[in-house]
Amino acid sequence: MDNQLDSVLRESPHRRFNPLGNEWVLVSPHRTQRPWQGAVEAVPPAQRPKYDPSCYLCPGNQRANGELNPQYHSTFVFENDFAALKKNVPAVRLDVENRGLLVAETEPGICRVMCFSPRHDLTLASMAAPEIEEVVREWSSQTKELSAVEGIHHVQIFENRGEMMGASNPHPHCQIWATGTVPQAPARELTAQKDYRQKHNSCLLCDYVALEDDRKLRVVCSNDSFVALVPFWAVWPFEVLVCSRRHLGSFTAMNANEVPQLSAILKQITATYDRVFDVPFPYSMGFHQHPFDGAAHDEWHFHAHFYPPLLRSATVRKFMVGFEMLGTPQRDITPELAAEKLRSLAESK
Ligand SMILES: [Zn+2]
Ligand SMILES: [Zn+2]
Ligand SMILES: [Zn+2]
Repeated sequence: MDNQLDSVLRESPHRRFNPLGNEWVLVSPHRTQRPWQGAVEAVPPAQRPKYDPSCYLCPGNQRANGELNPQYHSTFVFENDFAALKKNVPAVRLDVENRGLLVAETEPGICRVMCFSPRHDLTLASMAAPEIEEVVREWSSQTKELSAVEGIHHVQIFENRGEMMGASNPHPHCQIWATGTVPQAPARELTAQKDYRQKHNSCLLCDYVALEDDRKLRVVCSNDSFVALVPFWAVWPFEVLVCSRRHLGSFTAMNANEVPQLSAILKQITATYDRVFDVPFPYSMGFHQHPFDGAAHDEWHFHAHFYPPLLRSATVRKFMVGFEMLGTPQRDITPELAAEKLRSLAESK
């Protein structure tokens, strides 16, 4: 039966269900069988200096608000000078005439910027393993600190890499947005994981990882504590989902063993990405942890998403327009082919 399923998935237009996001994706495998065999335009990597005097994230430099960065040696965290959210906003909810049509509410939040390294020229792919472990430990302590702030119920850690993804500065860094409400994407995943737990009395992602681990078809790389795979329902051409093998809900629940294992898999994925088109691969990535609202959230399974926009070469990007904007997201290269490509590049090093 698996064989028949495989040939349908390989050859026929079909749609796949994303049980985590509770949405569908349209897959059109007949449109491109082997897209990466086309022209690959190698773009020479920009040589960046270790220190850039004009970078607002480099040690000792001045930021837009006039403050000087310290001479930091590992990670460095500060409140975003242009924060999208503020901690102290009056709690207000509007619903004009109580008709549910003109609804708004204030959203308290804290936005921080976190540099991964004092080195302007490094990336997660080129940083040494112990340096990435420092980053993971800082993500954990930031989660702990921010989730303890009154009125904060969710901590979103994310990295935008590359100009294509709107990253304004190549210095290796991420952002941490802590909010009063659970943002839209994790809120959908919360409902999906709760429903699955209720129906099956087990965890959605534990069960999913077990299925993928058996088949190996979509696994890119893995170690004792984490699995990186192209999800069955991936929308972006080289989308990757990273799941912990152990059922844990957040950074703060990670044990001492899992820190180096997460660091290793992050380095492996980002280095693999850079080999796909021989360019620094742009992406948005982020971790999804359970809400911090006082409940146990045993249904939640810690994971990370990588969403890279590149399609066929370093310069051809995927746009979410037309049917994707108005209907359902669509992809040509199948998740299985994307996984095969990434897996071969992950193993080649
Ligand atoms: Zn810099
Ligand atoms: Zn689980
Ligand atoms: Zn998620």
